This record gives sequence, structure tokens and C-alpha cells, in this order.
Amino acid sequence: MTLALHVCRACDEVIEDPADAVLVAHELGNSGPGWDIYAHREHVDDVELIDPDLLRIMLRIWAAHRPAAQ
Ligand SMILES: [Zn+2]
Repeated sequence: MTLALHVCRACDEVIEDPADAVLVAHELGNSGPGWDIYAHREHVDDVELIDPDLLRIMLRIWAAHRPAAQ
């Protein structure tokens, strides 16, 4: 059985220990099913995900929860 190795999005190193790989996001491909994004467990906080759709949704949620400016 072949074990697929993941590459850390934060440091671009191969994550050799599967137990150390954390799934941080799923990116949609332009012409395919997309791919999963992994990071070392200790690098999860360093991963910068640029997802315009998610950002737009979050901004909408934050705006809705913020008290209206007087
Ligand atoms: Zn890493």
C-alpha cells in the first residue's frame, strides 16, 4: 500500500509522520476535484489561507455581529 505524503503549507517540507499531518483546508481545483492542504501539527497556526469566498463569508458574519455605529 502506498502512503501519500503531504507537504506542509507553512514550511513546504514533506510531513513524514502521518500522525503529524493536520488537514487545514480543502482547496477547489479549477479543473479537478481539488486537493487537501496539510500542515505540520506545530505549523498549523502559521498557515495563511487565502480563500476569498471564506473571507467574504466571515466578513459578512463579523459585520452582522458588530453593533451598529452610531
Ligand atoms: Zn511545517
